[in-house]
Amino acid sequence: MTTRSRKPFVPITEIEHAAFCKPADELPAKSLAEELAINIRWQKIPPEFLRYSAKELDQRIHDVREKLGSTVTVLGHHYQREEIIKYADFQGDSFLLSQEAATRPEAEYIVFCGVHFMAETACILCAPHQRVILPNITAGCSMADMAPMEDVDDAWDDLQDVLGDKGGIIPVTYMNSIAGIKALCGRNNGAVCTSSNAGKVVEWAFQQGERVLFLPDQHLGRNTGLKLGIPLDKMVVWNPFKPLGGNTREQLINAKMVLWQGHCSVHTRFTVKQIEMARERYPDVTVLVHPECPMETVQAADMNGSTELIRKVINEAPAGSVWAVGTEISLVNRLALNNPDKTVFCLDPVSCPCSTMYRIHPAYLLWVLENLANGEVVNEITVPDDVKRDSLVALERMLELR
Ligand code: SF4
Repeated sequence: MTTRSRKPFVPITEIEHAAFCKPADELPAKSLAEELAINIRWQKIPPEFLRYSAKELDQRIHDVREKLGSTVTVLGHHYQREEIIKYADFQGDSFLLSQEAATRPEAEYIVFCGVHFMAETACILCAPHQRVILPNITAGCSMADMAPMEDVDDAWDDLQDVLGDKGGIIPVTYMNSIAGIKALCGRNNGAVCTSSNAGKVVEWAFQQGERVLFLPDQHLGRNTGLKLGIPLDKMVVWNPFKPLGGNTREQLINAKMVLWQGHCSVHTRFTVKQIEMARERYPDVTVLVHPECPMETVQAADMNGSTELIRKVINEAPAGSVWAVGTEISLVNRLALNNPDKTVFCLDPVSCPCSTMYRIHPAYLLWVLENLANGEVVNEITVPDDVKRDSLVALERMLELR
């Protein structure tokens, strides 16, 4: 057995999450010095970038973008702050953005305003001459951080040991994972999935083998398994801090799905209680949540779906309709702003942006852009060639199933 029994650790990205919960009117960006005053640990950059006011940052980003022209493309994930999104050439979810980058070969530099695994994916999918930059190197993702390579390799070895001669197991990883895990899936007949095609990918995986190891989000895995008719007692959770993930050999042999014990700090905040409160307040409300939410929340909601689906449904909804949304606050606020004829609000009454997305403060965007204008590349994200090659196999399998 290779899985070590050791003390559980909580990623810093998870610990810092609550530090960003604030009243909605305090969400607009302040100077970086003011934001860092709440004692958070972000990447250090030259002191002048800490002092610029929100207005100065805005003007300087505007100027440097003009200077750089089409040599740079800025990608903005839907969960980014407004002050960042306004400079994005493309907005989208992680996969859509990586694909978009490849359609701009004239852009030598891709500045990815999102989190680390997204920049890695862009690096795997972009053209060889393009270089990918993440403005704040500490912008990880708490979910991806819950599945470090060493733990996943140990788990994979143990699963081969227990299940190798019992029909095996196919690895499926959610896009929100490090490149090494995508590569492991590519090497072992597995695939990557997004929240919009998780059902199709897991269904496909069951045609390749007896069982599925789903990484790193247990909630998306469980919600997907239930949709496909897999009973709860056929799904076990793999706790990376316990031998055999906290399971017996028999439990693993009897399981159809092994769910990695990871979660999203943003989407696990949404609860059944919040849904009840929204329905009390607005009897006509439709509750729409992301499938990274816990099973009970997804089951109590009226609808669930990916970020792209949430956007589409609300943008196309009739005037006068009322929507309680269980996803990241920056996106919900933007949907409310762009749909003034509808009532759109976040299920969670406390505004808690994704703390890792939030690390892309305008000062960091300015810092990387001004460096580029001076001929310096900072915060470049690279992926080793062998990892790129194997990840691409898993990503291409996903594309075939879209
Ligand atoms: S919303 Fe959740 S899954 Fe997405 S980047 Fe933030 S922590 Fe990661």
